[in-house]
Amino acid sequence: MANNNFDVIIVGGSYSGLSAAMALGRSLREVLVIDGGKPCNRQTPHSHNFLTQDGETPKAISDKARQQVEKYKTVVFYDGLAVQGFKTIDGFEITTESNDTFTSKKLIFASGIKDRLPNIKGLSECWGISVIHCPYCHGYEVKHEKTGILGNGEYGFEFSKMISNWTKDLTLFTNGKSTLTKDQAESLQAHNIPIVETEIDSLVHTNGQLKHVVFKEGGTSAVKAMYAKVPFTQNSDIPISLGCELTEHGYITVDSFQRTKVPGLFVCGDSTSFMRSVSNAVTSGSFAGSMANKELIEEEF
Ligand SMILES: Cc1cc2nc3c(=O)[nH]c(=O)nc-3n(C[C@H](O)[C@H](O)[C@H](O)COP(=O)(O)OP(=O)(O)OC[C@H]3O[C@@H](n4cnc5c(N)ncnc54)[C@H](O)[C@@H]3O)c2cc1C
Repeated sequence: MANNNFDVIIVGGSYSGLSAAMALGRSLREVLVIDGGKPCNRQTPHSHNFLTQDGETPKAISDKARQQVEKYKTVVFYDGLAVQGFKTIDGFEITTESNDTFTSKKLIFASGIKDRLPNIKGLSECWGISVIHCPYCHGYEVKHEKTGILGNGEYGFEFSKMISNWTKDLTLFTNGKSTLTKDQAESLQAHNIPIVETEIDSLVHTNGQLKHVVFKEGGTSAVKAMYAKVPFTQNSDIPISLGCELTEHGYITVDSFQRTKVPGLFVCGDSTSFMRSVSNAVTSGSFAGSMANKELIEEEF
C-alpha cells in the first residue's frame, strides 16, 4: 500500500463500515477500511426487513455495497484484523495482525459483536437458520409454526409475549428450573404457552433446519424454530483500550452522532445498539462517516 496515512480508518467492512466508507468516499476523504470478513449473519440463508434487499443473501447485500463503495477511489481496503490501536498527537495508529501500521486523523469502529452461543449440541449449526434471534428478521418465514423460546425469567416471559404475535403454537424452554414469577407463569398459561423446565441436551436438525429438542433426562419435543437471545462480547477490545466505555448491556457508549467519549473516535453498527439489523447498521454507519467528515471540515476550515 503506497500510503499509510489516512483521513479516516474504518475497522470493520461489513454493513455499518461500508456505509461509513460510502459517506466518506463521497466526501473526498482518504479512507482505509480494514476488514476481517466475518459478519455475524454469515450463516443465515436469507436476510430480511431491509428495503430493496428483502430476501437477499447476506453476502449479496455486502458484495453489492462493497462494489458501490469501491467506485470511490479514495477508499481503499485491507483484508485482515486490526489488533492494536493507539492515540497519536493528531489522531490514531492502528496495527494489524500482519504487523502493518496505519495512521489516521479520525477512527471509526464498525467491528460488530460476537455471539456466545449456549453449549447445546446442534445449536450452532442451526444459528441464523432455524434458531433465530429476531422476529423482524426471520419471524415471518416461520409464522404460525410450532416454535420454541429458549429463555428464562423476565427475558423468557417478555420474549414469549412478543413472539405470540407471530405464532400461537409456542413453548417456553427454560432449560432448567423456571425463574419466572407466579404472575408471569400464570399469564403464559392463560395464553396457552407451556413452560418446559427440563434441561436440554441437544437440537436435532437437518442442515440447520430444526426437527426436535432432545432433553437430558430423555424425551423430545418437536419444534420448527427456536428463538434465542444469547450473550455477546465486542469483536474488538481496541475501542475500550483507547478509553471508550461500555453500557450496562455491553454496548459501546456513543451519543446520537455515534461519537464516543474519546475525541475523534466513532463507533457504529451492532457494537453500539440493541436494534440489531442491517438497516440500523447502515444508518449508524452513515452517521459515523458524516460526523467524522464534519469534524475534519471544522478542523480544516
Ligand atoms: C444469525 C443472524 C441473522 C441475522 N439476520 C438478519 C436479517 O435477516 N435482517 C437484518 O436486518 N439483520 C439481521 N441480522 C443482524 C445483522 O446481521 C447485523 O445487525 C449486522 O450484520 C451488523 O452489521 P455490522 O457492520 O455492525 O457488523 P457485522 O456485519 O457483524 O460486521 C462486522 C465486521 O467487522 C469485522 N471485524 C471484526 N473485528 C475486526 C477487527 N479487529 N479488525 C478488522 N475487522 C474486524 C468482521 O470480520 C466483520 O466483517 C442477523 C444477525 C445474526 C447474528
